[in-house]
Amino acid sequence: MSDILVSKFGGSSVANANQIEKVRRIVAEDSQRRIVVVSAPGRASSTEEKLTDHLFNIATNGDHFHDQRIPITVDESRKAVIDRFSQIIDDLGLEEKALLKSLESDLATDLTGQRRIAFLASRGEHYNARIIAAYFAKCEMNAEVQLPEEFGLKVTNRYLDTQVLDEAVPNIAALAQKNSISVIPGFYGVTEAGDVAVFSRGGSDLTGGVIANAVDADCYENWTDVSGVFEADPRLIAEARTIPRLTFKEIRLLSSKGFNVFHLNAMKPCWERKIPIHIRNTNKPGDRGTVILSERVPEEGVVGIAQLTNVAYINIEKYQLGEEIGFTAKLLSIFQEFGIQSYHYPTDKDDISVVVDQSDLTGTINDLRRRIESQLKPDFMDVVYNLSILTPVGMGLKGNSYPIVAALKALGEEHIPIEMIDQSPSQICFHIGVPHAVADAALKILYDELIG
Ligand code: ASP
Repeated sequence: MSDILVSKFGGSSVANANQIEKVRRIVAEDSQRRIVVVSAPGRASSTEEKLTDHLFNIATNGDHFHDQRIPITVDESRKAVIDRFSQIIDDLGLEEKALLKSLESDLATDLTGQRRIAFLASRGEHYNARIIAAYFAKCEMNAEVQLPEEFGLKVTNRYLDTQVLDEAVPNIAALAQKNSISVIPGFYGVTEAGDVAVFSRGGSDLTGGVIANAVDADCYENWTDVSGVFEADPRLIAEARTIPRLTFKEIRLLSSKGFNVFHLNAMKPCWERKIPIHIRNTNKPGDRGTVILSERVPEEGVVGIAQLTNVAYINIEKYQLGEEIGFTAKLLSIFQEFGIQSYHYPTDKDDISVVVDQSDLTGTINDLRRRIESQLKPDFMDVVYNLSILTPVGMGLKGNSYPIVAALKALGEEHIPIEMIDQSPSQICFHIGVPHAVADAALKILYDELIG
């Protein structure tokens, strides 16, 4: 342990001057907060796009928004980026006109291909960190920007989905020796050749996780706009509370099933060194948030229920398929060929089902079915659309099947049709597939029965 807190602030926490002032107060309040990782400005209002999306739009000559049917041109994106940063600079009372000049010249980069996309995408974090560090310094905090290209956050040359190289670790660890607060842009690193490469979207969380690991932080604080991880989607279950403590394993199961808390891969570096991740709300710093740990006492059965919508279920029947060695492998390799991720595949003597994200079937189901029929010759094949999967999660479920029984009984009493049941091999969660039309009602029944 190093006596250091690594504090990462997400896009909404640094979206404008008002939010940046909240960040400053949080950082100033605790002298352990010596490494601050920041995202690019997120949406300042619900009608606005994220700055990073504007940057992707510029980088892709307008394809980025066009593909999402958002009518914003490259010129409009360029103006949005410059206007947003100049507004932040003005509102913070900074004299940083040189930064704007440098931003304008970066936006006119003559890089090409993926190098260009990565470089432009990284500019939101890059300039935001420089502005925030300048603001901290103006407020008489001993703070300095530390740029990945300067301290050596070395990454692989997969420009748009990069990974940190081992040789970056000592460079990052050296940040712990600085006697000023380091303000670091998230989301990107530099390749051996000195090019910028970015992590996948939401990747500032990853920067924070990797830094927390390298400096062996006491805790990785992840500041966002919610007060932690909720027991169930609070838009559907008004009484859902935040969960005080969760294990890495539980959060992974909750996150992979529709809880969008933070970048899943950001956890691994913290998990490795048992560094707790504390999810906190920049707008309500008094709230306790959720702490994610390697271990906790399982006081209750179910801690949270995730809901994954827009799921489809492909059912295949073939005499003795369960006894044909390699049948599942062949089937899944067809899904792989079509780039379709499969979530579960319950199987039996003559049947197998594959649960997938329904949107992955758009434009592919016809060819997928054709390929499966010609290659595997099933006796019957059928696709069930519009399902939701409800996933109760909790360490306390291990060796305790009562909540499964209670869940099924409660759903049965309310005549909720169940399309699928699957217990995770870890035994700390189970999945219930129901038709989408009754999924919200089913979630409420499960919440009342298992948590509320
Ligand atoms: N700005 C990047 C994105 O929008 C990374 C991040 O915010 O974590 O994906």
